[in-house]
Amino acid sequence: MKLLVVEDEHKIANSIKKGLEQESFVVDVAFDGTEGYDLASTNPYDVIILDLMLPGIDGLTICKKLRAEAIHTPILILTAKGQLDDKVAGLNNGADDYLVKPFAFAELLARVRALGRRPAHRVNTVIQVEDLELNTNTFEVKRGGKLIPLSRKEFGLLEYLMRHVNTIMSKDQIINNVWDYEADVLPNTVEVYIGYLRNKVDKPFKGKTQLIHTIRGFGYKLGT
Ligand code: CA
Repeated sequence: MKLLVVEDEHKIANSIKKGLEQESFVVDVAFDGTEGYDLASTNPYDVIILDLMLPGIDGLTICKKLRAEAIHTPILILTAKGQLDDKVAGLNNGADDYLVKPFAFAELLARVRALGRRPAHRVNTVIQVEDLELNTNTFEVKRGGKLIPLSRKEFGLLEYLMRHVNTIMSKDQIINNVWDYEADVLPNTVEVYIGYLRNKVDKPFKGKTQLIHTIRGFGYKLGT
């Protein structure tokens, strides 16, 4: 497991690092909030240990920014003794657990291990529009509880449209977001895939709201 420790008190940061390394973790340390945020937003960590009072960017803001960027790495916040408000604010801003300073190293280790076992993407895994459900974890799509098998590309296109429910997306927007930049995309590729989706998501469900719409001259929309 790879961990990030963001803590401006060098003595505490270094002793956490040393202790965790003895337990065979790989540990990066940032001594201020700016560096901590940079590392956390650009590297995959299994757990982030985050002090709240930091020079640069404070811990709560880091938490909020990471969650806003859909980075769901488990975060353990370190708060000073008696700062109950910090704890509540931390958990409200997307932290997963907290530890009050001073703490025993064994306690930190137990919390880190528990957080590291949790799947990183626990939140917002199911997108729902009407009775259509898409699970970004299991790659399952269901309508009215009935499983709809989709190819990877169909899934990607449906996810994109569902994330922008009731919004017209142009062909260019769809191509830029659903196909990688090296793919050969012909002018009618999007149309073809919209057709595939319609055949699976709408046509078999005759009595129900048809969800995929062509807006002539503009693009496509999923919604009601
Ligand atoms: Ca501090």
